[in-house]
Parts: sequence; C-alpha cells; structure tokens
Amino acid sequence: MIDKQHRIKIAIQKSGRLTDLSLDLLQRCGLKYTRSRDQLIAFGENMPIDILLVRDDDIPALVRDDVCDLGIAGLNVVEEKRLRFLDEPDNESGMEEPFEIVRQLDYGQCRLCFAYPAGGEINSVQALNGLRVATTYPYIVGDYLRRHSIDAEVIEFSGAVEIAPGMGRADAICDLVSTGTTLLANSLREGEVVLESRATLLRTPLEVPAEKADWMARLLQRIDGVMQVRESKYIMMHAPKYALAEIRNLLPGSEAPTVLPLDSLDNRVAVHVVCRENVFWETLENLKSAGASSILVMPVEKMLP
Ligand code: ATP
Ligand code: ZN
Repeated sequence: MIDKQHRIKIAIQKSGRLTDLSLDLLQRCGLKYTRSRDQLIAFGENMPIDILLVRDDDIPALVRDDVCDLGIAGLNVVEEKRLRFLDEPDNESGMEEPFEIVRQLDYGQCRLCFAYPAGGEINSVQALNGLRVATTYPYIVGDYLRRHSIDAEVIEFSGAVEIAPGMGRADAICDLVSTGTTLLANSLREGEVVLESRATLLRTPLEVPAEKADWMARLLQRIDGVMQVRESKYIMMHAPKYALAEIRNLLPGSEAPTVLPLDSLDNRVAVHVVCRENVFWETLENLKSAGASSILVMPVEKMLP
C-alpha cells in the first residue's frame, strides 16, 4: 500500500523511447528503487518517491486525476491530452489547466510536422483546404488548422500514419519526426512544424501536503542540477596574467574563474572555471592562441545551482 500522504508518485513510460532516459534521470537525482515483479511500480528505497510504469498516453490523465503527483511524457502527448481534457463535456465548470507543466527536460526531442507526398501537388499547409490529413494527434492538428484558417478534414489514426497517403486514406499526414528516414521511406516530404517536442515533467495542479511539497522541490532542484551538469565542463589551464580578460571572453557560459598563483612563476597563473555549455575544440584552440597551456576539460559529476 502506498502512503499517499507522504510519498510522491511519479508516472513514467513503461516501455518505449522515454523509459531508460527517465529512469536514468531519477537515478541521477539520487533515487534508488526496486522494481516489483510485475514491474508496474518501482518503490523508492532512499527517498519517499515511487515510480509508476505505464503507457505514455495514460500519464497526463494520471496526473490530472491526482493518482500521480508527477509524470513525464513527451510534449506531443501532453499537449494532445491537455486540449482533449479541456474539450471534454464534463469540463463544463471550465476546469482550468488539468496539470501544470513544470519542466521541459533535455531528452526525447522530436517534432510534430506535416508531410506531403513527394512529387505531389501539395507543398504547404495552405494547400490542404478541402483535403484530408491523417494523424494520431487530432486535437493538436485541429487546433493548428483552426488557427491558420485552413478547412481540412482531420482523420484520426492510432498508428502507422505514414502509410495513409499511399493507401489513399489521406492527402497528407501530420506525424512525429526525429531523423526523417521514415518519411523518406514512405515517399513523403517534410512540411511545416506544428510542435517542437521533448520530454516534459507534469505535476498535479492540486496542492500537496507540506512534506511532499518539500521533496518535490528537492527533486526539481536535483533535476535542474542533473540537466545543467550534462552540459557543463570544468576547465583548468595555465595562462599569462595579461591574457586573463581575453581568456574569460573565450569561455562559453562561465562564471567568474578561480585564478591561482603558480609555484615559482610570476607572470603565469592557473585558471579554473565551470562552463555551462559544451566546450568545442575550436574554443581550446582559441585559448591556446591567447597564450593558455596545459588545458584540461573535465566532466562535472554533480552541481547544485
Ligand atoms: P506507449 O506504448 O507507451 O504508448 P509509444 O509507442 O506511444 O509508447 P514511443 O514510440 O516509445 O511511444 O515514443 C515515446 C515518446 O518519445 C513520443 O511520444 C515522443 O515524445 C518521443 N519521441 C522522440 N523521438 C521520437 C520519434 N522519432 N518518433 C516518435 N516519438 C519520438
Ligand atoms: Zn503511446
């Protein structure tokens, strides 16, 4: 039995593209868990946080209905469900938002976009007036078409949308793309982007008991730290004192560097700095040109912003 008063429940995808990355994120936040035999729930051992493993499509409703306090799903799923919930007849009371989007995470990137038969006459979304679009995201696509005053018929598919034009079931599609190879394989050409998506952290719109709210705040802070660390590097180098200003300008996203004297050298110092962006070879080459030497770039293990 889960102690709802004190333990946070977070829903993540059971098996799919977001599963490993979401579990990895929670582990990096320090969560140790055991997975039960049916694998529906993983109980947190060292933090009052339990993980519910479900289909990604179910996650927004679990958070809306307060079965879970938090959830991680792609923005594509989150936005589709949000529009659907707001449109439901039992939302007469004009329920405000069914959940709160608290973070956009740094994985699961893809885009929801229109695609048209290659070599066909349709080149843009404007040409879809009076035609049919197949998609698994009827609410997002319907909303987009309305906002662009395009009168097209939206045909809901539950999967394999990309074969719809070839089967004569639609004139165009609107589907998720990351590399575009699936489109190419189905002789489709990518068109307008409707939504840039990535994994998204949701929370219940309801207030939670103080103890849980504390843990939620801690988890959010750790998630921010994990995301920042993934981009951050610790750089150490020796540099001539006169070049310090120039060197500072060369370092992307850095805070004030630590400058330390070097034994028996008067005109050179050691410079240590955390860069919150990726450091490329070009940057190192520029640092060297500015007079730096012994340049070391190291990953950062943990960071508390
Ligand atoms: P489930 O069984 O949980 O319903 P699914 O088949 O709906 O799984 P996946 O294919 O595992 O879902 O994708 C999960 C999420 O990963 C998508 O909703 C999307 O946000 C993201 N994603 C990232 N890249 C892609 C991609 N190339 N194609 C589809 N989804 C992608
Ligand atoms: Zn799904």
